[in-house]
Amino acid sequence: MAQIEGKVAIITGAASGIGRACAIVLAREGACVVATDVDSEGLRDTEKLVSDAGGKILTLTQDVTDEAVWEDVFTEATEKFGTPSVLVNNAGIAIAGGITDFTLDDWRRQMAVNVDSVFLGTRAAMNAMSSGGSIINISSVAGLRGAAGASAYCTSKGAVRLFTKAAAVECAQMGTGIRVNSVHPGIIDTPIWQKSITRMTEVMDEERISALTAHSGANQMDVEAIASQSSPMGRAGRPEEVAELILFLASDASSYISGQEHVVDGAMTA
Ligand code: NAD
Repeated sequence: MAQIEGKVAIITGAASGIGRACAIVLAREGACVVATDVDSEGLRDTEKLVSDAGGKILTLTQDVTDEAVWEDVFTEATEKFGTPSVLVNNAGIAIAGGITDFTLDDWRRQMAVNVDSVFLGTRAAMNAMSSGGSIINISSVAGLRGAAGASAYCTSKGAVRLFTKAAAVECAQMGTGIRVNSVHPGIIDTPIWQKSITRMTEVMDEERISALTAHSGANQMDVEAIASQSSPMGRAGRPEEVAELILFLASDASSYISGQEHVVDGAMTA
């Protein structure tokens, strides 16, 4: 897909899961990838995977909640490859827990990593993308509907969804040439999901856990058991399957698409 060749794409949370897959897929199509994360070790693995496949990549250690660092990321990306025109706000965490026991510290942490980061990244991108571009914010099906034990996560992803729409209208009316879209994955087999399942068990009773896993014969909570129960396709998605959608939204092939929510969930919310 030549419509992304040579574009400079910043991807946050690129040391793992969906962010890493996105770095690999965009680089495969000729983008210059700037991969950021707090996890320097994971970033090195992403760098090697992209470089070994002949892709162009710069890795930067970044905490997406740190306001001061965002400008540096855009400056370093520009110095290395030129002005960025793609930003994938992907970094995220999922802090599970029932509302009655949830702490305000955990609530604020959830909002800082999942929501503040998207605002900070979008603001930096709008200031830097002088010739237009595409901002892709990774929300979740949890941003479209509720889930027990996930109130903070759902709230954060719902905020990402509506921030995306507001930013898209603002960018369009200001004539920036910047499109803003949100992506809503269902169950994707990555470390964040594996950790969420483990934590979800803490707020579910045994009957509910058995109901979720019984049909597959699994005797413990595992991602495939939950996925086969929750998804009509009977399996978890792969990070690459989300990355291919991000590629389309990042490329000029989606030039008239902005302010929309794009679900990739194997028909889970259909
Ligand atoms: P993951 O845990 O594999 O990757 C998340 C990455 O974000 C990690 O590399 C982590 O180090 C990084 N990160 C966390 N906090 C950070 C911070 N403060 N600054 C910089 N980087 C930070 O998880 P994933 O499944 O690839 O998740 C990627 C995105 O997709 C997240 O926003 C997540 O909420 C969303 N999502 C995932 C699923 C799923 O089922 N896996 C479903 C819906 C949405």
